[in-house]
Parts: sequence; structure tokens; C-alpha cells
Amino acid sequence: MTPTQALQKYFGYSEFRHEQEAIIQHVLNSKDVLALMPTGGGKSLCYQLPAVLLNGLTIVISPLIALMKDQVDSLNIAGIPAAFLNSTQSADEQSRIITKLNSNHIKLLYLAPERLFGSENKLVQFLKSLPVPVAQIAIDEAHCISHWGHDFRPEYLMLAGLKDHFPNIPVIALTATADKLTQKDILEKLNLKSPAIFISSFNRANITYRVNPKRNSFDQLLDFLEDRKDESGIIYCLSRKSVEALAIDLKAQGYLAEPYHAGLDNAVKARNQEAFLRDDVKIIVATIAFGMGINKSNVRYVVHMDMPKNIEGYYQETGRAGRDGLESAALLFYSPGDAIKLKSFVSIDGDPVQTQIMLSKLNDMAKYCQLPTCRRQYLLNYFDEQAPNHCNSCDVCLSEITKFDGTLIAQKALSAVYRLKERFGSTYVIDFLRGSKNEKIREEHKELKTYGVGKDLSKADWQRYLRELVALDYLQFTDTEYPVLKLTSKSEAVLKGWQKVDLIATQTMEERPTETLPFENDLLSILKNTRRDIALQENVPAYIIVSDAALMEIATYLPQSLDELRFISGFGDIKLARYGREFLAPVKIYADERGLNSQISKKSKKRERKVKTERVSTPRSSDTRMVSLELYRKDKTIAEIAAERGLSASTIESHLSYFVQSGEMDILDMVPEGKIPAIKDAVENYGADRLAPLKEVLGADFTYGEIKAVLGWMNRNQ
Ligand SMILES: [Zn+2]
Repeated sequence: MTPTQALQKYFGYSEFRHEQEAIIQHVLNSKDVLALMPTGGGKSLCYQLPAVLLNGLTIVISPLIALMKDQVDSLNIAGIPAAFLNSTQSADEQSRIITKLNSNHIKLLYLAPERLFGSENKLVQFLKSLPVPVAQIAIDEAHCISHWGHDFRPEYLMLAGLKDHFPNIPVIALTATADKLTQKDILEKLNLKSPAIFISSFNRANITYRVNPKRNSFDQLLDFLEDRKDESGIIYCLSRKSVEALAIDLKAQGYLAEPYHAGLDNAVKARNQEAFLRDDVKIIVATIAFGMGINKSNVRYVVHMDMPKNIEGYYQETGRAGRDGLESAALLFYSPGDAIKLKSFVSIDGDPVQTQIMLSKLNDMAKYCQLPTCRRQYLLNYFDEQAPNHCNSCDVCLSEITKFDGTLIAQKALSAVYRLKERFGSTYVIDFLRGSKNEKIREEHKELKTYGVGKDLSKADWQRYLRELVALDYLQFTDTEYPVLKLTSKSEAVLKGWQKVDLIATQTMEERPTETLPFENDLLSILKNTRRDIALQENVPAYIIVSDAALMEIATYLPQSLDELRFISGFGDIKLARYGREFLAPVKIYADERGLNSQISKKSKKRERKVKTERVSTPRSSDTRMVSLELYRKDKTIAEIAAERGLSASTIESHLSYFVQSGEMDILDMVPEGKIPAIKDAVENYGADRLAPLKEVLGADFTYGEIKAVLGWMNRNQ
């Protein structure tokens, strides 16, 4: 089998992305590789695909148990035998896996580094003694080995011994974040043999970056969520307390939100994470403890209620949005106070060098939040990548910025700071400028000439201008607990009128009009239900079956046969054989009743990411089910409705069974009473996950509509 054939067969794609193919070729040629790819860039494929082709076991080193479970589930679903060994497993489970390893029945084994090298290398010795030797070693999240990285894990240092034990086995190290120092460190510490280094673009083009001032941030958040009610998102807060509080507030607003932080019970954490993965919970409010290893591909947004500690963390966290390649959003609420508060957090006791590294990373993060220029460019430059000045999908690029001569405003602000002897924070300075009668303003300050010179501007305007003046370095905040405004070396020139200051006049957030996705909207919901049913049966999260992007492609191109379904991204041979018919059935019904044809010929080659412009049809807003119900309520029979609408009776039955489940219709209107026990029996014996087997068992006397109606009725009565 060639790599391309394996790509189609197991992963369901016809083309490689970025440098995947070259990386894989190197591994297959037994060469060491360091691969730097952004989150969602298709990293794991680089070792999973060789694992399939190589004769022997691939060991995957991974830092977190959650990560392992997710990947192992995905692989098994795709027909690649994989397993992990860790402390959560019973002795029985572990010995079962050992047996399988001995008989060469596992292609990939996931391990934490301490597991591999613990108990005096017992496992290493075992792996070395396997009848079919180890063929590849992959080290995921390889930056964890470096002090220079933001996520240093001492146990990763054990991996230095890898090459001693497995000198001739190709090692592939992968990471989603690595600056030059970290890169160098990874190579040295792992002792790789003249490795090939691959650096992919870190750009996540489908993510729009925004930073908003942290003011009424909860209201701003509600605004943001208003348009995203049915979508999955992660909201990060700095402290456990604010995580808990925000989750409660969001629930009170009717959102399906759950908290996640290290202080919660393991059982609660596992339950909340699982519910999120299965789309039962839409929002996870979390500390950074959440997300590493979460492969959920349809996270549509990531919000930071507080500033993160470094760009690496921020980029990784925002990178959890839009792994399926669809449009996603990253929103951060920033206040200068956060940057100051974080300083104590990033300090590492007794390690001034490491502390300095972390402080400088914090500083870069604060800079990002105050950028007057393209945020994507800054992020990419941070990862040593060139980028154009304008990305057209960050708040800076999307806002229409007109500048005006703000010298007078700047002079007023600077002179207020000067007159107040550089001893007050922005709130006081603004009240003073606006001539507030507030008793907090000291009497002697009310005598000053500058008092009230800024009456003509609102508080919000002043806040904006002060922030801008800080960003432009004409003012600065102190690093103290209560930040105080001070002049800078650039202030004098402004005060004396030597320096003109341009300020931003209007900052209208001109959003791009949301593109209407040209796909069959109703069909997409039906397909999601189908996927959910399969996922429940397989006991894995829905996105592991197939991605949202794949369902969207189906709802766009309406494949009519297994051969056509093969053109949909993510449908490899195994998935096609296992689930193809189940996804095809609703598409056929849907297309038949509307007289739609397959559009598959318009589909270009499938890659792991789809291109927006590939979509060809338009969404339907009218709910066809409702039309059927309305006619039914006018006392028409199913046959009459079918005739009137030019649809088949079974289609009308499907429509109506939906309302049986919702309780708007009686089951006896749909199914003769005598048939119900037989259908119920079949469901109880064969499960409710798949319709086709039920139909087969029940025979020609029963329609799909009747079976669905009984299922709906049973669901309702559960
Ligand atoms: Zn931009």
C-alpha cells in the first residue's frame, strides 16, 4: 500500500496537506524528524499513517491521558488497532493489551514518558523484546521537553534515553508551538540523528481574532454568544472562582455551560468534558487546565475572559477553535490591570532565569492586546513567520480606522496626569478631566486649571484615548497593584506642542457580512442526528465518527451512493463500510422528496480542510416538516398530504414521526396499534441506533415512517 492509498483507506482523504507527505516519507525511510505544525494542522497523521505502513509497533509519547483516549478512539473507529497504557486502567485491561502487543495485534501504543521509563525500564525491556520490533517512535507535544517552552514538563526529560534504547528506530518529534530556542532544545535533548526539520505555516486562516476592552465583559460576552447559541465554545478564566461564577451566570441565562478546573472532583471533570465532547453541553468554562488533548473539531469559538500568560498558550488555546477548518472566532477581554496581576503568577520561586523568560513572554502577550496593527501578523511574526500587514480577519483589520489630529486631546490628558503629580489611576484622571463633582475628587484638584477641560468627551471616549496614548507610549501605567498613570520620555514633546498626535477617530467594528452557507440546512440537522446515534452506539464522541465539515459536505453535494460518498472528506474505506449506508439513507430520502440530484461532480479533490467556495447549493429555511403537520391538522390523511405535496407517503410519515416524539401528535395516528408491540420488540432486541437492521427484521409490512414514529414515541416515554 502506498501512503496515498493508506490516506484514502484509513483517513478518507485523497490529498496530503502542507508537508505531511514529505514528513511521512522521511519516517518511512527511517529518518528522524522534527515537525512544527499549528494545532489542527494535521500533526498526528504524520506518525499515524507510517504506523499503518510500517511492520511493527509505533510508540507514541503523549503528555495527557485525555489526549491518548481521544486519539486511540479515533484510530480504532478508522480501523487502525491502537491502545494506550496508563494508570487509569485495571490490571486486567493492561494485561490484555500486553497480550495483544506480544501477538503484533496493535499498531500504535500511546504512553506517558514516565510510564515508558518507570519501574526500572520494565516496559522498555518488554518493548525491546517484542517478536516484531518497534518500528517508529513519535513524541507528541515535544516542546514539553524544553525549559524555553511555556509548558515544560520535567518527566519529558526522561526521553533523552530513548536513542540509547532504540538507536535505529526513527523518532518523529512534533509540536504546535516552538520558537527557535525551544526548537534547538528539543533536538539536543532528544538526541535526534541529523533530523529533517519541517516547519509548517502557523496561520489559522479560519480563526478571526478580536480583543475587546474588559469593560462590562459579561454583557459583551452575552452579546457575543447571542449569535452562537447552538455552537460549541470554550471560555477561559484565570481563576477557579471566576470559572465557577461564570458557569453559574451563563446557566442562569439559559446556556448549557459547565465548569472545568483542576480543583473539581475527577468524576465531575470527566463528566463535564464528556458532555462537551458529545455536544450535550455547549460551553465549557475553564481554567487552562482544560483543553490540552481535546480533539473536538467543531469548537466554534474560544473566549478569554482574562489575559493569558503568554502567546504560546493563547495561540494553543485559540487554536482549539475551528479544527474542522470552518469559520471560528477568538475573543479576548483585556485590561492593563490583568497584565500586572499576572506578574506574580508567572514568577517561579528560586528560579530567576526561568522567571525572566516567563516575564518577557507575558510582556509580549500584553503587547498583543494593545496592538494598533494586524493581530495575525503579530502572532505569525512571533512564531518567526512572515505575514502581510493586513489579514482582513482580525478586529484591527476589520475596523475602519480613520485618524484625526488628536494633539489637543493628548495635551489635555498628559497635562492632567502631570498636574495630578503622576499619582492617580485612569478613573480619577478621567473624572478630573471631565470636571466631575464627585466628592472623591480632592478640593485642591478642583482649583487646578486642567480640571474640567475634558468635559466635551464621554468617559468611554476618554478611556479609549488614554489606552491609545498608552499604546503609543505617550503615557504609561505603573506595575503596581493599583496602576497609576505616568508620563514617559515622549510626553514632553507633546505637552510643548512639538509633536503632533494622531488618534483613532471612529472605531466602528465593521464585520464582514456573514456568508450564507450554501448547503441543505435541514439535511445537516438530520445528518447530525444520524451521527449522534452512531456515536452513542460506538460509545465515542460524535466528532470522532465524522467531522462537522464532512457532514456539511454531504449536505452540500448530496452523494447518492457509496461510491459518491467516497468523495466526501473523512470517509475512508473503513468508515464507508461501517457507516456509509446510514449516512446515505437520509440523504436519499431528502433528495428524493425535493427532486434534488447529486452534486458530487462539482466537488474538487478532498483535503483535510475544505474550501468555503466549494459549496454549491443554498440553505432552505422553511421547515418542510411543519408544512406536513399543518396539512395533517387540517384532517388530511397521510396519503392525501403525500399527493398534495408530491412527496412519498414514507416521507410524510418521517415528518410526522418527528412530532410524535415532540408530543404534538399521537402515536396511534401514525401506527396501527397492533404493529406497535412488534416494533418495540425489535427495538429492544436490536437497539435504536440504526434503522436499517430494524426494517430488515420487521419486514416489508412495516414502513420506515412507522418504525421512526415508534422510536420517537419510545424516546418520549422513556
Ligand atoms: Zn489582521
